[in-house]
Amino acid sequence: MNDLADLYQELIIDHSKRPRNFRRLDATVPGAEGYNPLCGDRVTVYVRMDGDIVADVGFQGEGCAISKASASLMTESVKGKTRSEVETLFSQFHDLVTGVDKSEQLGKLAAFSGLHDFPARVKCGTLAWHTLRAALKRQTEVVSTE
Ligand code: ZN
Repeated sequence: MNDLADLYQELIIDHSKRPRNFRRLDATVPGAEGYNPLCGDRVTVYVRMDGDIVADVGFQGEGCAISKASASLMTESVKGKTRSEVETLFSQFHDLVTGVDKSEQLGKLAAFSGLHDFPARVKCGTLAWHTLRAALKRQTEVVSTE
C-alpha cells in the first residue's frame, strides 16, 4: 500500500514539475479559463476537435502541484477520446476524488484517489476537468458562417 502511495506521489510530483501538453494550441483555438479561488489555481485549457474526437489539447496556468499535475494527466487521458468518453471519464474521476466510488479503474488518474481525504484539495484536482468541459462546450457553440 505504501509503495502504491509512493508511486502516486512520484507521478504527481513528476507531472507538476514537468507538465505534459503545457502549451497553447495555435492562435485560432480559443481557451477556456478556470479559477479555483480556494487555492488560487488558474488554468486555461485549449482543445482542438476533429469531428467528435479530441484531436489535441493543451493547457497553461499557475497553481499548486495538484492542480498542475491533474491538468497534465487530464490532457494525456482525453486525447483521442470522443466527447461522451470524456464525459464518462470526468464523472468517474469525480467519483474517485470525492470518494463516491473508490473502485474506479482509471490508470494514472488513480494517483488522485487520496484527494477524498482532503476535501479542500478536491477542487484543485477537478479544476482542469471543469475547464476542459467549458472548452468542449464552447466548441459546440462555434457559429457557422453559412
Ligand atoms: Zn490548488
